[in-house]
Amino acid sequence: MASMTFDGIGKTFPDGTVAVANVSFSVADGEFVVLVGPSGCGKSTLLRMAAGLETLNSGRLLMEDADVTETEPQDRDIAMVFQNYALYPHMTVYDNMAFGLQQRKMPKDKIDKLVRDAAEMLDLTRYLERKPGALSGGQRQRVAMGRAIVRHPMAFLMDEPLSNLDAKLRVQMRGELKLLNQRLGVTTLYVTHDQVEAMTMGDRVAVLKPVFNGQGSNLQQIDTPQMLYDKPANLFVAGFIGSPAMNFVRVDLTAEAGSLKAAVTGTKTSFSIPAKAALSEYVGRQVIVGIRPEMFQVCPASEALFNEQVPIAEALGADTFVFFDIASPPVNINDAEDTEDFPNKGKNRLVARIPPALTPRPNQQLPLSVDLAKLHWFDPVTGTAIR
Ligand code: ATP
Repeated sequence: MASMTFDGIGKTFPDGTVAVANVSFSVADGEFVVLVGPSGCGKSTLLRMAAGLETLNSGRLLMEDADVTETEPQDRDIAMVFQNYALYPHMTVYDNMAFGLQQRKMPKDKIDKLVRDAAEMLDLTRYLERKPGALSGGQRQRVAMGRAIVRHPMAFLMDEPLSNLDAKLRVQMRGELKLLNQRLGVTTLYVTHDQVEAMTMGDRVAVLKPVFNGQGSNLQQIDTPQMLYDKPANLFVAGFIGSPAMNFVRVDLTAEAGSLKAAVTGTKTSFSIPAKAALSEYVGRQVIVGIRPEMFQVCPASEALFNEQVPIAEALGADTFVFFDIASPPVNINDAEDTEDFPNKGKNRLVARIPPALTPRPNQQLPLSVDLAKLHWFDPVTGTAIR
């Protein structure tokens, strides 16, 4: 086991693409850290750099306290699990798991013990003589894990290892992988684009975003899942973590005796909140308010902040998600500055989570209040959270 440190990592490909810029974070000994973000945010490149499959243009990579930036992949003592599993189709499960150890000329009886122990742990013992073609997707995935485990590496690197499994199996396997990590206590860096996978598996989650022109950093925030949800550092993280996503509403802020008045831009809707030091410099300007879907409550019409027709109600059984439009310019979370030419300019579609018993009929008006104490606030230009 070992800690892993990314120290000011940067990667520009020969064609000029800046894939990674200014990324710094550490994975503690035995910790499970997930890298998550949309396509092209540099997740795989970072993982490949950790594996030694990609060179760095700047920064250093440490394992424990040793600088491994220039170390060859085979000398790094890490095991990688890919989404395609990369199993040898002509070899049995046993040989697939044993292969790496045989290459290293490990004594046969030692290999046998390692393979059988890993098979036991992964519930693969009865499949050891089968070939990968005769296994289910989940079993193949476990063989790929087994091949990594038998090496007893200092760290696991996993690149979307569950993405080829169907939805149900993925849910089952993510629980099993997490349990396995807890049992083995091996430092793990795990890449996924699926925020639910990230939130359910990671001790901590690093949220990444593509960089433009090499400015800033891919790394938006690294924190526990709960902290990312409760205290997102900026609009991007706030919008990426959570399903359905956080709603963003533009408001114009004015000061009233002892309190602040927020008028929803483009509408007659407004609300007051107690004065808040961090917001004082935004008085007279526009700010972005974040509302999680569960922060809405169905209420009497006289208490409603929003009272719009609901064209779409998705009844999922335990919850109902209702969608409605307000006549206010939408917010584009990918570049936080005001986006005049953003499509759908005058309309902002919001989503609220309500109890199923209150599911409205199609196009019925639904009065909703908002828990104002829980609102998130963001700078409209930088996107940074205002606290
Ligand atoms: P995905 O989820 O789609 O796999 P990712 O977050 O893993 O995306 P990367 O594969 O790390 O993203 O790619 C980051 C950026 O680097 C992308 O813009 C990608 O097009 C670019 N990139 C990756 N490999 C190369 C390469 N060999 N040459 C040029 N650009 C590359």
